[in-house]
Amino acid sequence: METMQEYIQEAEASLLHTYNRYQVVFDHGEGVRLYDIEGRSYLDFVSGIGVFALGYGNREYNDAVKAQVDKILHTSNYYYNVPAIEAAKAIKKVSGMDRVFFTNSGAEAIEGALKAARKYAYLKDGRTDHEIIAMEHSFHGRTFGALSVTGKKQYREAFEPMIGNIRFAELNDIESVKAQITEKTCAILLETVQGEGGIHPCEKAFLQEVRAICDEKDILLILDEIQCGMGRTGEYYAWQGYGVKPDIMTTAKALGCGVPVGAFLMTEKVGQNSLKAGDHGTTYGGNPLAGAAIVEVLRQFEERKVLENVRRVGAYLYEKLDALAAEHGDIVEHRGAGLIQGLQFDHPVADIINKALEKGLVLINAGTDIIRFLPPLTITEADVDEMLEILRECL
Ligand SMILES: *Cc1c(COP(=O)(O)O)cnc(C)c1O
Repeated sequence: METMQEYIQEAEASLLHTYNRYQVVFDHGEGVRLYDIEGRSYLDFVSGIGVFALGYGNREYNDAVKAQVDKILHTSNYYYNVPAIEAAKAIKKVSGMDRVFFTNSGAEAIEGALKAARKYAYLKDGRTDHEIIAMEHSFHGRTFGALSVTGKKQYREAFEPMIGNIRFAELNDIESVKAQITEKTCAILLETVQGEGGIHPCEKAFLQEVRAICDEKDILLILDEIQCGMGRTGEYYAWQGYGVKPDIMTTAKALGCGVPVGAFLMTEKVGQNSLKAGDHGTTYGGNPLAGAAIVEVLRQFEERKVLENVRRVGAYLYEKLDALAAEHGDIVEHRGAGLIQGLQFDHPVADIINKALEKGLVLINAGTDIIRFLPPLTITEADVDEMLEILRECL
């Protein structure tokens, strides 16, 4: 097999068709560019959906991962390992949270967060019918627990029944949240910036009010930072820009920059009063390979001043997308912060994204009518200019 078409045919004959894939087979990457197997280059404004935050072909990252491969990949969570200990220390430092549980994915981090919240409430009152409030249009993953709290009926319907006792409220509508609170509510879960649902940031007053309600009623606030966390908004975690702190938070995607890792973190109060030995576990989560990747990612965030770059280039992208929106009547809204931004059109965006791909620009949608911008966090103003030049040709 040699051509992309041949590989694509082979893929469609073998892989379960759960994705309508773009017609490209990527081979390798360098910085903010991807190359397909026929040697064409593409400017990447997706970074594997917010995963490859530090760019491709990152020598130091690759070396750190390879060194760990040569040392040892896996032991077991029944033993201690140094990379996981260092990773926990590093992630505590940037998040200000107290306790970490490493997972292999975002969905698993959500599962753990939900279990921790239910256990916390159970230890308080012994009830086994606690409720969780989640948001409409949210996305938390595809496993049963994560799907149950995902605010998109079409994702859930065929797989009913869900885990139960989940209520939905509207993001940025505090009255809708209050209306769902009962004496059984144990947690309120939200994305600080909704990603998949269309790049909708929480409003500051809304999140602060949710925090206040949680404090008053001893309800746990769970923030899903799987997409908007790890530098995307110019903070390590988006909530750090809101003057609130969650009781539990989830992180994944950029955390391993390609090595599949996730984590849920909690405050000491929740840590001391929820999951205990025997309550939760994972074979791979926090293994030495995952730990080594996390340590190196966080080291580079610091060394390369990634947050500063996101703030500067994110502001530049914001200004340029605002200007683009002003030029095009079919762009109805521009939302987001830092390097997680979206343009909402009054029509589907699939054609624009396909055209962009033909012209060597990788973009992705969020819903049918929104183009989502999630570039590597290391992009420059020149990359933004190049992206806009191609995007303009496609509009
Ligand atoms: C991607 C995502 C998830 C699920 O993560 P997986 O690693 O795909 O399981 C959960 N929440 C948010 C906000 C996400 O963007």
